[in-house]
Parts: sequence; C-alpha cells; structure tokens
Amino acid sequence: MNFYILTLFPEMVMGGLNTSIIGRAVESSILTIEAVNIRDYSTNKHQKVDDYPYGGGAGMLMQAQPVYDAWRSVVERIGKKPRCIYVTPQGKTFTQQEAKAFAEEDDIILLCGHYEGIDERVLEEIVTDYMSIGDYVLTGGELPAMVMVDAISRMVPGVLGNEESGSSESFEGNLLEYPQYSRPEEWNGKKVPEILLSGHHKNIETWRRQQSILLTGKRRPDLLEKAELTEQERVWLKEKLL
Ligand code: SAM
Repeated sequence: MNFYILTLFPEMVMGGLNTSIIGRAVESSILTIEAVNIRDYSTNKHQKVDDYPYGGGAGMLMQAQPVYDAWRSVVERIGKKPRCIYVTPQGKTFTQQEAKAFAEEDDIILLCGHYEGIDERVLEEIVTDYMSIGDYVLTGGELPAMVMVDAISRMVPGVLGNEESGSSESFEGNLLEYPQYSRPEEWNGKKVPEILLSGHHKNIETWRRQQSILLTGKRRPDLLEKAELTEQERVWLKEKLL
C-alpha cells in the first residue's frame, strides 16, 4: 500500500513513521510512505503558501494553488486519482472500522492543513474523504495523518508480524481487549490470575471474553451497546456491575 502525505512539514511526518513496525514494513516494501512538501509547489517568489482569509477573522489560510499542484504532481506520477483524505476537525471521526476499510486501498493521499485550514475551493476539487481524529483542535494535520497511517497500516496484511495480533484487539466486535500479564508470576505483591497459568485454553478463552465484556462495560458502555453479547453474558455482566 502506498501513502502520499501532502504537508508543509515532511520531516515531521517521515521522522515519526520511519521507526518500529511501520518502519520495518516500509523496509520490506509492504508499504511506501512519501511526504510531498506543499511549499515546493508554491509559485510565490518567497515560497509563501498562506494568505489572509477573505471576510476577515483570525489567522492565515493555506492557499489553493500550491495544495492543488502538490496533489496533481502525485496524481500525474502514479497515473490515477486515489482517495484523498483531508484531515480536519470538521471530518467524520476516524475509527478502527475506517482503518480497516482504508487498508483495502492500494494508494491513499492524505492532506495536512495548517494555520486556520485550507481554501475551500481546492478541497472541493481534490478531497474525497474528510476525517477527524477526535473532537479537539490541533495546530496541524501532521499528527492526525501519522495516526491514520499507523492505524491503517496495521490492518494491511503482513505489516504485523503475527496476523492474529490485529484480530483480537480492542474494538473487535465492539469490545475492549482483556487485561494481559507477562513475567514474573508475582510482581509488587500482585499475582497473575490463576486461570492464565492453568494451560486450559477453553477456560482461558472464556475468562478473556468475560474480562473484555467487563472492562468495556466499565470504561466504554457506549461501545458495549453495539457489541453482540449472549443473554447469559448480559445477565452475568449486570450482576458484576452491581
Ligand atoms: N480552523 C479550523 C477549524 O476550526 O476547524 C482548525 C484548523 S487547525 C488549527 C489546522 C489544521 O490542523 C487543520 O487544517 C487540520 O488539517 C488539522 N487538524 C486539527 N485538528 C484536527 C483533528 N482533530 N483531526 C484532524 N485534523 C486536525
């Protein structure tokens, strides 16, 4: 899968994405990640990319021309118009489901805004998806783009060493993941739950499912409403939460 990130801060994006699991996936050519510097496409002699908003108001806006030309450079080079995601607080909230759906694409362009945002006219021309990473405002789109590339990449086959590790995680079936423990068996006076040392896989599976349900009920009751629980599990949870 290929990511093209249109940004004013390419070094920030590449520095954050070239390490650990994503860095390894890039090295083994499962992913390519390219940051395209929007400033390189400015036709202004001082390489300016922003200007005052018409109608007044605080701050500056990124101008349409350099953003459009940066996008066009990618589209012309790869010979197609992939989905182009503008990361913006005005977008749909990005979730694990979205990460999975975007991971089906071969190519994705991510557009990072800065200052007060981007001239609406270029957004109308090139953007296919408006995505937010949460209901708060950041100074730029670089962190949201990095968050999205990371979450989407994990869903691309071969990126995670163990194919299993993506499928039993939080948000699968609208449940949070169960608590996990590693060595030693006792730490700071706290013991690993006995059942995990039993070697009884069926009982461990049942315990983990119950813990997932319990944790989701305590921390994310909104998610639990969408989870598919058996009648027995619902009764069990009700008793536990009393
Ligand atoms: N004036 C804009 C508004 O009120 O919606 C906010 C602009 S913000 C200061 C600058 C840039 O940061 C945006 O263009 C966007 O690319 C990015 N950004 C900020 N918060 C974001 C969020 N929660 N999700 C995705 N992108 C975000």
